[in-house]
Amino acid sequence: MRIALAGMGHESNTFNKLNTGLETFNLIDGDEFLQGSHLRGSADGVYQTLAEAGAEAVPLFFARAIPSGTVRLDAYEYIKSRIINKLRKNGPWNGICLALHGSMAVEGIYDPEGDLLEAVRWVVGHEIPIVCVLDMHATVTERMVLLSDGFSVFRTAPHIDAVETGVRAAEIMLRALREGKRPVNTFVKIPVLVSGEQSETRVDPAKALFDSLETYDKLPNVLCASYVMGFPWADSPFGGAGALVTGWVEDNENLKKLANKMAANFWEKRSDFTYSTPAMIPEQAIQAALSATEFPVVISDSADNPTAGASQDTTRFLQLILESGVQNAVYTCVADPAAYKECASHMVGDEFSLTLGGYYSGKAYERFTLNAKLARACSHYKNQRKCVKLKT
Ligand SMILES: [Zn+2]
Repeated sequence: MRIALAGMGHESNTFNKLNTGLETFNLIDGDEFLQGSHLRGSADGVYQTLAEAGAEAVPLFFARAIPSGTVRLDAYEYIKSRIINKLRKNGPWNGICLALHGSMAVEGIYDPEGDLLEAVRWVVGHEIPIVCVLDMHATVTERMVLLSDGFSVFRTAPHIDAVETGVRAAEIMLRALREGKRPVNTFVKIPVLVSGEQSETRVDPAKALFDSLETYDKLPNVLCASYVMGFPWADSPFGGAGALVTGWVEDNENLKKLANKMAANFWEKRSDFTYSTPAMIPEQAIQAALSATEFPVVISDSADNPTAGASQDTTRFLQLILESGVQNAVYTCVADPAAYKECASHMVGDEFSLTLGGYYSGKAYERFTLNAKLARACSHYKNQRKCVKLKT
């Protein structure tokens, strides 16, 4: 059994005005993957499981970046061409495993994962299975469902089961090849968008929904049952959650029934998704911190969440902190290359006027000026961790 393994992962926040270039991606060649310089992730789970089963797993090319704005077309085309060229040159294949995110947006391409799958099918045809790993926040399209034979999706948020998800994907592939049968996918869209802060799988309703998947996996003719949450910070025509079931084609009607039942369960609980930590408007959060008796108090501004690809250049919360007279607080951090340059032109201990905010959005109300004191020397631009003491 000779199985190709490749990966492409990005969660694209289309409301971030700054597009994502190739320089943001961690690019890993197949040889580097084999030497161990790879990301701990779903591809490891796929690779190890295939190798342990005696299959020849051939890592081709992997590209992954942390969440940020829409991916530039040239960056996507480069990643796609690296995968496709290696697929073409190193075949023939018995199967393909792809480690994807599922919510990538590319300039001019609404459905990049579907586009990549289509390109892969042009090379390998429709006679061999393709199994994909997806992030829980994947945005699944009909094209992806049709062009792939199976899906395995993260079941934890925060995501701590990437390797296990890869193992499940490899197991789908192994069963398909050993039993000489083609799996089929059934997908039922759930017209709900749930934010990450409201869908932790340690608490209900996400816990109960995702826990139920293990039971569904054990049903006859089901290979893998999954929920996808979609990604709310993207203006996509395919946005939304979904129930996704991979199983044997001869039981397609029951697979459809299961996917419908899973979607109905999710829909029934749609109003129960809520914050798993206290959530307040910014002014209230600052007052709560001021009257706290235990420290430190950590406040997270979910409106500009860089881990969901936001631009991290808003300053409204910082302004409120300064206006409230809070002493001894750390605020981290504001992405603003111009402000950084200004800081870099000063010596440690210098006091100066610093304007920051709205660098990427261009929103005038985000820009404001404060008195700053440089507490630590600015180093190389890439190492942006710096410390500027803000003075009111
Ligand atoms: Zn995710």
